[in-house]
Amino acid sequence: MTIVLGGGISGLSAAYYAANNAKNSAVILLEASNHLGGWIRSIKSPTGAIFEQGPRTIRPVGLAGRNTLDLVENLQLSNKLIHIGSSHPATRNRLIYSDETLHLLPSSLKGVFKTTSLLDRPLINCLWTDLTAPRTSKEDESIYDFVQRRLGQDLADKLISPIICGICAGDAQKISVNFLFKSLFEAEQKYGSIVKGVLVNRLKNIFSKSKDDTGKKDNESTNLRLTLADVAQKEHWALWGLQGGLEQLPQALADNLRERGVKIQTEAKCEKLTFKSNCVELIINGNIQECSRVISSLPAKNLADIVREQHPALSAELEVIPTVTVAVVNFEFQEDVLPLQAFGFLVPPKENLPLLGVIFDSCVFPQKSSTVLTVMMGGAWFEKFFGANPSEEHLLTTAIDHTRDILRIEEEPVAHNVAVLKDCIPQHVVGHTQRIKRIHDYISTHHIPLGLCGSSYQGVGLNDVILSAKQAVCDIVRER
Ligand SMILES: Cc1cc2nc3c(=O)[nH]c(=O)nc-3n(C[C@H](O)[C@H](O)[C@H](O)COP(=O)(O)OP(=O)(O)OC[C@H]3O[C@@H](n4cnc5c(N)ncnc54)[C@H](O)[C@@H]3O)c2cc1C
Repeated sequence: MTIVLGGGISGLSAAYYAANNAKNSAVILLEASNHLGGWIRSIKSPTGAIFEQGPRTIRPVGLAGRNTLDLVENLQLSNKLIHIGSSHPATRNRLIYSDETLHLLPSSLKGVFKTTSLLDRPLINCLWTDLTAPRTSKEDESIYDFVQRRLGQDLADKLISPIICGICAGDAQKISVNFLFKSLFEAEQKYGSIVKGVLVNRLKNIFSKSKDDTGKKDNESTNLRLTLADVAQKEHWALWGLQGGLEQLPQALADNLRERGVKIQTEAKCEKLTFKSNCVELIINGNIQECSRVISSLPAKNLADIVREQHPALSAELEVIPTVTVAVVNFEFQEDVLPLQAFGFLVPPKENLPLLGVIFDSCVFPQKSSTVLTVMMGGAWFEKFFGANPSEEHLLTTAIDHTRDILRIEEEPVAHNVAVLKDCIPQHVVGHTQRIKRIHDYISTHHIPLGLCGSSYQGVGLNDVILSAKQAVCDIVRER
């Protein structure tokens, strides 16, 4: 029997892939809270608008992007899927708020040659900075240091730092470049420059793709059905979501699991894990339960707590993967109150504002004629701006005052929702790749029947955590 710990999207996905695998006779999923889906939560405002408290959009690209679309198709959610393409204003228009001004980032090749108001130089100049910067050999460093070294401090401060706030609510001075921008870092390490490395890799890809295409053409006539992922690629989707809210994804997964006989227990907190010679013993709400293998989708810190007694060295590695807290405030305004149709704006940390950024939800996926915005605050700077226990009232006024000031909105919102998401985003700091390797090595050398998935390990995006669940199931089945 396989027990999956955690009923967020990665735990539900792990149970789904485990149930698909014939070798897994029985699968049980245990979730500590009374809610399935973890950070995914879609709330209906009193006026009927959808407020996403956690994730809202998913990128369809790459292996992980295709995998999620396959899952959506298998769960028969394709008819609820909404998407935008590469020419949509929310794809093209991305803003940064710096020096009391909203700056539009270039979205075309022509724009890259023009001096941007954000940087006082054309973006193309950075390529020259990179080509002339000296090569430095390193195992890892912060994204900030890497960008400052290769592309210039202005880019590190005004462009990359806010982008990192948008990706993981984190501090670019701490996040690992060898983890988050692995291919760029490797390009520099191998070829002495990002530009050279990227060009060489592009050329290699073009050659290998043309070989692949020759092979594919022979099979084309026999495989005419396009998958959802094929359609997304063919139509150049940039982002997708679900009509009515992303929470339908974990709900559909849970329904599918129940239909296939997977037992889902909520309010079932795992308090201790002990790996014995012939089984795994779990303490769940004070009661003992046994199984043959465990897949943990818990945040690394929670897993550290429950394995500490038997495996203190493993626990010590898991425990130090940091997390940040984000305050999320959703607003609805009755009219169209935005100065520009865009995805939203990000705020560089050097502006010293409590806002990480604001997403223009109703530009991405329109909701009637109203404007829906989501303000993200705090992250790596949560305590600095809000202390340990800010009131809802304080968070609400901070969000509304700054947003109205920056976007010059005069109207009052007609609905809102405030939430503090404690420790919601793991931070993959410098040295993360090596730490993850040590964790996996420990598990495999001690022959522990434990698979790991979720946002603490291989990336925080929904695509990453769903793929990590599939991988964890493959790994644990192969081990046995
Ligand atoms: C504000 C915000 C916005 C985001 N936006 C996007 C986005 O637009 N696109 C995107 O791709 N990604 C986005 N993400 C990232 C993405 O939502 C998360 O990485 C993902 O939801 C994490 O899922 P998970 O299953 O790994 O973890 P979680 O959702 O944290 O699930 C873990 C579960 O384990 C349970 N648990 C903990 N301890 C125990 C225990 N001892 N026993 C049993 N159960 C336990 C918890 O209750 C929880 O339900 C966003 C994240 C946040 C916070």
